[in-house]
This record gives sequence, structure tokens and C-alpha cells, in this order.
Amino acid sequence: MATERNPFEIAKARIAKAAEALNLDAATTALLSSPQREVWVSLPVKMDDGSTKVFQGFRVQYNTARGPAKGGIRWFPTETIDTVRALACWMTWKTSVVDIPLGGGKGGIICDPKSLSETEKERLARAYIRAIAPVLGITIDVPAPDVYTNGQIMAWMMDEFEKIQQECHPGVITGKPLALGGSQGRGDATARGGVYCTRECAKAYGIDLKGKTCAIQGFGNAGQFAATLSEELLGMKVVAATDSKSGAYNPDGIDAKALVDYKLKNGTLAGFPGAKPITNDELIALDVAVLFPAALENMITEENAGTVKAQIICELANGPTTPEADKIIDANGLHLIPDYLANAGGVTVSYFEQCQNAQNYYWELEEVQQRLDTKMTRAFKAVYEMSEAKKVSLREAAYLVAIKRVADAMKLRGWC
Ligand code: NAD
Repeated sequence: MATERNPFEIAKARIAKAAEALNLDAATTALLSSPQREVWVSLPVKMDDGSTKVFQGFRVQYNTARGPAKGGIRWFPTETIDTVRALACWMTWKTSVVDIPLGGGKGGIICDPKSLSETEKERLARAYIRAIAPVLGITIDVPAPDVYTNGQIMAWMMDEFEKIQQECHPGVITGKPLALGGSQGRGDATARGGVYCTRECAKAYGIDLKGKTCAIQGFGNAGQFAATLSEELLGMKVVAATDSKSGAYNPDGIDAKALVDYKLKNGTLAGFPGAKPITNDELIALDVAVLFPAALENMITEENAGTVKAQIICELANGPTTPEADKIIDANGLHLIPDYLANAGGVTVSYFEQCQNAQNYYWELEEVQQRLDTKMTRAFKAVYEMSEAKKVSLREAAYLVAIKRVADAMKLRGWC
């Protein structure tokens, strides 16, 4: 893999930049720049046709200075250790920026989930847990769902771990179905966390959002909840949304709940009553108060960044803005809430799930939402204050806050 495209090399370049700004010593920087533990496993799985297939899996525990590793398990045909490493590193900063007592981890299995039957998926999930069980546990590493894994897969994984341990360990994995110890409020947590950050961002920069407009790029889990919650919590008006193939735009406002129902029923935004079609590039350039990129990475680029007019860009997606686009957005004085702060609501409620599992007592939805609000509000404030103190963008500030906390924890432990 060429250096410039290797996601872990990109992650390390970020660390080096922050280390310089924070004046970290060489040993601290070296430790921050490499995973603490990596496990590579070969998983023999009996297929439905009687054959045996061997799958390659990984688990990376990037840094546990602030607590047990935390991060999802991806099932992906082109999974690589570099991607898993980079994402585990990134989880370390994400748990740190929201100040939850966890480290960063990530797992992956090279497989094409679409070609596996349900029984093959179950055998693969159980094989993975048997292989990594020695390095799993509520005090070591707690996985969660990610790309192409879900609550059912987490349920099989938890069950396999409990069979090995011969004890109940609901907290060994999060993102479980409610019936097995999942948390209330996980469904909309990512968008909700982003909307809370948007509210705080508006307050910090003196922007009044009530009655103002927003646009949403990507209308899946994160995008749909961003639409309904911007209306409900911020009093905003949704004027446009796009998905991979269609878009809906009405400058006078769209009923967010009706748009979600329409998309769920028809699988498209095309033909939504009262709205005109809109392309992604047109949506990005709309004169709205808030833009929510909630689709994929690299959607705001050097080519279209100059057209963005939104005062606040809340990155619900991972990596939607390229580094070149970042500079343009910064230069234009727009406020960008960076992805691993903006979308940290999901991991925060996963942490709440761990807490509830540990006490074997479950919170009401309102309590989960209140606690999430407190965490996200505090996280945004810390990043905003760093950005003001160091005169850097919110993205740079988020790295400084997160990396400093991990470096401080390592120092206190006497690691370096
Ligand atoms: P999803 O699959 O439910 O939805 C993705 C949406 O993006 C779909 O509507 C799809 O049609 C749309 N899309 C794809 N390509 C597009 C394009 N070129 N232009 C416009 N829209 C396009 O996924 P999700 O769970 O909502 O996640 C969205 C993003 O948020 C991802 O980057 C994900 O990593 C990030 N994220 C999600 C969560 C979560 O809890 N759901 C947590 C953290 C980060």
C-alpha cells in the first residue's frame, strides 16, 4: 500500500502534528503512534455445503491508558490490518474527546457477509470470539457492531463468550438487542450527539438556530435522525436531503418525519410530495445554517468546499471532508464540528450500556438522553475552549484535547 494512501500512515501523521503542538516527548509520541496489542486469528468455519473455509480476522487494542479498549467489529471483503489499526487509533481519540474511561480498539474479519447464510454467520461470529476470548472482557476490551455486523451478531458473540467463561458477562459486548442488555436510546444516539454539539456550537459562536434551515446529505440511520432531531431539539427547518440516488428539496421546509416515513416506505427520496429533486453538489452549496454530512467519506472536497455556505457543518459521517477542503472551510470562517466529536454519541451510549450491564440495572430513555447531553455538551466545550486558546480549528483542537488526555494518562501510569 502506498504510504500516502495507507490509513494508518495518515493517522500517524495526525499524531505527529499534535505531539509537536503539545510538546510531547519522543517516547510518548512513539507509544501514541503504535498499537499496544494486535491479534491475528485464522478462523476455520464449517460452511452449509459441508466444506470448511478459513477466514482471517484481526483485533487491535490500540491504547488502554484511559481504560479497556472499545470499538466495533467490521465484516468486510477488503478488510486490511492497516484500516483496522487506523480505526482503533481513531477510537482512542474518540473515547478520549468525550471523556469516557475507555481506550480504543477495532476488529475485523475478511469476509463477504452478503454471501454467508445466517447459520454460517453464526458459526463465524462464534469462531471469532473463541479465537480472541483470551484478550476480551469488561476490563480488557469490549467490542460493538460496525460495518456489516449487527445486534444479532453481538448476541451470538456474547453467548459464545459466556459459554467459554461459564458466567454471565453481558458487558463484554455492546450494541446488543434490548432483550439481552442493550441500552435504551442507542438507535438515535449518533445523530442526537451531533445535534447536541450543533446546539453548543451555535451558542459558542452566537448563532441563533431557531427557525433556521438545515440540509442533510445521506439519509440512512444518522441522516434520518439528524432530520427529525434538528426539528425537535433545535426548532430548525429541514429544507433538503439526499441519498445515494435521489434528493428532495423544498426551500419552504420539509416535514422531517414524513420524509423519513416516505424513505422507509419507498426506499428513495424521489417523488416526495411538494419537493423538487436536488443533487449532492447542489445540496452542499445550499444557503443553510447547518449542513449535516451523514453519508460517506470524502464528500466535501477541494472542488466543492468553496461552495459551502452553511455556518455550521456537523460531520455525522466519518471523514466526509478531505484535508484540502478543511483548509477552504476554515479560511471561509465556517464552523466545522469534526467527525469523531460530532458522531461520538453512539460510542457514548455504548459506554452507558456497559455501565448498565455492570450494575445490572437499566436506565429509562430520558436518563440515557440526559447523560448523553451532559457528555456531549462538556466535550464540545473542551474542544471549543482549546480552539480559542490555541487559535486552531475545532478539528485541530479535538485532536489536541483527545491526544493530551491519553498522553497525560500514560504519564501518570509511568509508561513514559
Ligand atoms: P446508512 O448506511 O444507514 O446510511 C448511509 C446513507 O448515505 C444512505 O442513505 C445512502 O443512500 C447515503 N449515501 C451513500 N452514498 C451517498 C452519496 N454519494 N451521496 C449522498 N448520499 C449517499 O449509514 P449510517 O449508519 O447512517 O452512517 C452514515 C455515516 O455515519 C457513516 O460515515 C458512518 O460511518 C457514520 N457513523 C454512523 C454511526 C451510527 O451509529 N449509525 C456512528 C458513527 C459514525
